[in-house]
Amino acid sequence: MDLARTDFYLDGQWTAAGSGETVAVRNPATEQVIATVPAGTAADVDRAVAAARAAFPGWADTAPADRAARLDRLHAALTARADEIARTVALELGTPLKVAIRVQAGLPLTVLHSYVELAARPPADETVGNSLVVREPVGVVGAITPWNYPLHQVVAKLAPALAAGCTVVLKPSELTPLTAYLLFEAIHEAGFPPGVVNLVTGTGPVVGEAIAAHPDVDMVSFTGSTATGRRISHLAADRIARVALELGGKSANVVQDDADLATAVKVGVGNALLNSGQTCTAWTRLLVHRDRYDEAVTLAAKAAAGYRLGDPFDPAARLGPLVSAAQRERVTGHVARGLADGGRLVAGGPDAPLPERGFFVAPTVIADVDPDSALAQEEVFGPVLAVIPFGDDDEAVAIANNSRYGLAGAVWSADDERALRVARRLRTGAVDVNGAPFNPLAPFGGYKQSGLGRELGRYGLDEFLQTKAIQR
Ligand code: NAD
Repeated sequence: MDLARTDFYLDGQWTAAGSGETVAVRNPATEQVIATVPAGTAADVDRAVAAARAAFPGWADTAPADRAARLDRLHAALTARADEIARTVALELGTPLKVAIRVQAGLPLTVLHSYVELAARPPADETVGNSLVVREPVGVVGAITPWNYPLHQVVAKLAPALAAGCTVVLKPSELTPLTAYLLFEAIHEAGFPPGVVNLVTGTGPVVGEAIAAHPDVDMVSFTGSTATGRRISHLAADRIARVALELGGKSANVVQDDADLATAVKVGVGNALLNSGQTCTAWTRLLVHRDRYDEAVTLAAKAAAGYRLGDPFDPAARLGPLVSAAQRERVTGHVARGLADGGRLVAGGPDAPLPERGFFVAPTVIADVDPDSALAQEEVFGPVLAVIPFGDDDEAVAIANNSRYGLAGAVWSADDERALRVARRLRTGAVDVNGAPFNPLAPFGGYKQSGLGRELGRYGLDEFLQTKAIQR
């Protein structure tokens, strides 16, 4: 299978890349290069932005029902590729195939479907006194996305942007660009007007910065690390362009003394380890009431040890590798620091057995973690859970909120009202009570350094709209 790509998708056509430079894509389970994609340049971004700019008036004027129909065709074209998408994500990112089918391919299809309906019913004009308040698309959107959910992160931007009437230039992560090519094959098949959606691959410092700094990009929608989000904000600030940022997290899973401990710990460990811990919303701090603490540590260690590492295509594997050698080094560095800072290793760790090849890290649980230590403060982005005791609800809330991040969290209690009171006090964009399911229509985004703005549902659509008052 030849996975190499040589083209960008510009102005409705597959177009040969200009520079001849390429970026290598590796299979993290074998460490082998499996493909190359073009390394775009600022000139390629100029071409893409010019196409998006030229297409904007027509797409903005397209009737909502027609935009919805186009998104529906894209949904059908992507559904037909769901299996190929899951396999490609397993190959370039390392998510076990079973999880990739459900989450990496399944979730974006659900999100895209929600925007077929939202596109057909855009926010209505409102009358406020003598003013008519209308909503209009922001314009040309530059979308820059990470590698951990390579289709979902893209769809969460592209679908609402297109539904709102914006045109888009996408730069996917250079670590996982192959999934984006499948998306653009589906986009081509769905028949969007030329220039409405454009793809330029390449590195962050070159293509990403060219998009963020481009005078003709009206909004930059970014998902990735807080450091890069800060850089993008600075670039966009020079021309007062709108930014939406979905950044890192260090979410707390608060388990109260009256909780169903076995379920809370089992679900909590599963959440922390999903996608080998490379999930921005991962509940990476397990906070447990002192009365149940020892029991919880034992349960967490046992649960983590039950996650078998292996090749993503091996049906017995529950955890794949990390995305890259650099990510593995970062994660093992965090584990070493956590142990040096006084954490107690109860599962995994530096000496746990690993597959011979691949960027694997063993599922690791570290107990007695100091809430102020690096392991409790830094985003690890690997299969590493920090366990911390607390004495009462006030202390649990204080520890949970002791973070520069504020993305997600969880609370477990037999008393729903008590759980809700704690949930309200957490300074995060989302909280799940007693393992409640993910809701693709609910707003998704962060407080504090976890980001700006919201994705998903009508909240995600709002990000791509301007508000105009016409006085009569
Ligand atoms: P990253 O910030 O390194 O890269 C994200 C994207 O930004 C990539 O496409 C990259 O090429 C690009 N980029 C890098 N440097 C750039 C620059 N100077 N200018 C413009 N673009 C640049 O992040 P990553 O390593 O790909 O992803 C992991 C991080 O993303 C984690 O910190 C994670 O928490 C965060 N994340 C957040 C969410 C969320 O929704 N809040 C979702 C997924 C990942």
